Amino acid sequence: MLDADFFHRWMAATAASVDREAERLTALDSPIGDADHGSNLQRGFTAVSAALEEEAPATPGAVLVLAGRRLISTVGGASGPLYGTLLRRTGKALGDAAEVSEEQLAQALREGVDAVMQLGGAAPGDKTMIDALVPAVDALGDGFGAARTAAEQGALATTPLQARKGRASYLGERSIGHQDPGATSSALLVAGLAEAAGE
Ligand code: ADP
Ligand code: MG
Repeated sequence: MLDADFFHRWMAATAASVDREAERLTALDSPIGDADHGSNLQRGFTAVSAALEEEAPATPGAVLVLAGRRLISTVGGASGPLYGTLLRRTGKALGDAAEVSEEQLAQALREGVDAVMQLGGAAPGDKTMIDALVPAVDALGDGFGAARTAAEQGALATTPLQARKGRASYLGERSIGHQDPGATSSALLVAGLAEAAGE
């Protein structure tokens, strides 16, 4: 079973990898965006870490709802509301249980990813974070390590795609040949989950 501490570790691992990879995320956002994705998420996850330290939520759901709220309030770009919705909706789906199973987390994340697709209107293949998140949720039944691999492959597979949502879509065919920054950061989020699980 997964307790609040597991979810706290997930957010901390993600904050650390976003910190390490911020320059790369911003560099990916340079040719097909406005070169702010790394700094956006760095600001957001720094605020998430501070909020979790301060409030120490006692349940898995409360950890994710607080993290989601903080991302929405601190990240100005498109990715803030989208990641915020992902974590908030996943947290709400987990309810107020003190511990949740891997199956419950997989189901809750599915609801979170559906909420992101509804909010942003993106579907798989549109060259967005959805291209890492959907394969990860699909693979979660095979474990956290499988989800991490699926997210990383999903992020890499955005390179030949033409963007159909977000800022990159303004470039039309010129968006082809670049890896999507949001799919790349989503792979970091899923890797953080595997790290929290000790995988
Ligand atoms: P902004 O585009 O406002 O500068 P960021 O640079 O922080 O925001 O985030 C860009 C990332 O957000 C993209 O790489 C993409 O993965 C994701 N994104 C943008 N629009 C959407 C959308 N409508 N649905 C899902 N993801 C999106
Ligand atoms: Mg940007």
